[in-house]
Amino acid sequence: MPQPNELLRDIFGFDAFRPGQEEIIDAVTAGQNTLAIMPTGGGKSLCFQLPALCRSGVTVVISPLIALMRDQVRALQEAGVNAGALTSGNTDEETDAVWQALDRRELKLLYMAPERLATTAARDMLRRIDVSLIAVDEAHCVSQWGHDFRPDYLRIGELRQMLDVPLAAFTATADAETRVEIVEKLFAGVTPQTFLHGFDRPNIHLAFAVKNSPRRQILDFASARKGQSGIVYTATRAKTESLSAALREAGHSACHYHGGMQADDRREVEARFQREDGLIVVATVAFGMGVDKPDIRWVAHADLPKSIESYYQEIGRAGRDGAPAETLTLYGPEDIRLRRTQIDEGLAPPERRMADHARLNALLGLAEALRCRRVHLLGYFGETDVACGTCDLCDTPADVFDGTTAVRKALSAILRTGEYFGAGHLIDILLGHETDKIKARGHQTLPTFGVGAEYDKRQWQAIFRQMMGHDLVRPDPERHGALRMTDAARPILRDEASIELRRDTIKNAPSRPAVKA
Ligand code: ADP
Ligand code: ZN
Repeated sequence: MPQPNELLRDIFGFDAFRPGQEEIIDAVTAGQNTLAIMPTGGGKSLCFQLPALCRSGVTVVISPLIALMRDQVRALQEAGVNAGALTSGNTDEETDAVWQALDRRELKLLYMAPERLATTAARDMLRRIDVSLIAVDEAHCVSQWGHDFRPDYLRIGELRQMLDVPLAAFTATADAETRVEIVEKLFAGVTPQTFLHGFDRPNIHLAFAVKNSPRRQILDFASARKGQSGIVYTATRAKTESLSAALREAGHSACHYHGGMQADDRREVEARFQREDGLIVVATVAFGMGVDKPDIRWVAHADLPKSIESYYQEIGRAGRDGAPAETLTLYGPEDIRLRRTQIDEGLAPPERRMADHARLNALLGLAEALRCRRVHLLGYFGETDVACGTCDLCDTPADVFDGTTAVRKALSAILRTGEYFGAGHLIDILLGHETDKIKARGHQTLPTFGVGAEYDKRQWQAIFRQMMGHDLVRPDPERHGALRMTDAARPILRDEASIELRRDTIKNAPSRPAVKA
């Protein structure tokens, strides 16, 4: 029996395992059902390729990515491993060669697209050959609520039961619901040994800032890093153009990128970014998939990303070379409103919308975090035992105070006015401003009228933003701008829970209305 360490060196040419690989490889080699969650680029393929060589018989690898399967097969063959693929991209000769190798019992790894599982020919073949392990790449494709649902993935569970062999599932998507669904659909509910590793990117510094003058904030951040390659993500296409123009005016080398551009123009930007040093690309999320530049020194978000997963993926493009990299994410109440509205107005079924709100909440929780952002971020992905020291809140601890009374006053203003008004009017009530709107509604007679004089308008705006960030209130999709209380706020209202707020983001609240970037 070949030893994993020798194979690692002799076949794959690596000196050592990456964090987490060895335990996964041991479990898979031993024939245990496993679910491994590792970030993209973490080295998942080794975790089934190496066990395949240690086990007798064939390992069947299911993957939806044809190009990737072909690359892996080629690399394995070059390393002297007998591997083949059955995909729609094959020539007839390639397919014949695979079937022959299978008949001669020579093949160690057989890559297959999930569609193949639908054919009786393929199922008969799999029954005939000596399959010893099923490896499933991109296992989240089995999840109906994920972004990449593949109906054929549902056949994998049947295949496992038919062949009665261990299954090893791999994915970079780690949220709890997806994980539960993978276990249910692929393992028929039998709990696999689960591994979660490698989400920490310690060289990436994490920072968030409340938007006050967003264009200035981005320009300052870029200027402090002049000559370094960076990406600025924005929420709209129009903003990529205006912001890149502003950066050029400030003397940076910058260009824009979004999905509405001609394919040629997009490729040109990608090539320039790859080739030039110190170019800034201002882009929508369309930019990134094809980008494989190791020395991106910084990533800034001019607007809040749509979920904690998107945030993680986007900042993760920085510092692939392992050298220090920096990030800055700007956010404000408008971002929260925009993202909530996008979810509410989307066409997704209700369960999916709920999950999307939860993913946004996770990101907002990170934005309004009171302590170490890395602990918070990695905690979401299930990783504990995190050491940080490289986030803004480790650099300068947040100044927090007991915000329970303030929040309760704000909630009471919301409830007494029928959850019908936006933050502006509610703040007028709290401050006791006798505006025309207040008088027209008779709100000067409310018991909450004028009870919030200990804060000024800006400070109340910051409190409302934090309340939105903690999902205590949400904009009502049916009534423009109106805030409704969520169930999460009830314990605070009933005096059963208290809440800490950040004093510093309240103290430093913008003194003038946010300027549009
Ligand atoms: P993913 O997890 O995204 O599928 P891959 O399996 O493609 O990642 O691995 C990402 C990269 O890391 C590949 O270039 C691979 O060769 C490299 N790699 C994997 N394991 C090791 C290791 N133990 N030592 C060095 N490089 C490794
Ligand atoms: Zn930290």
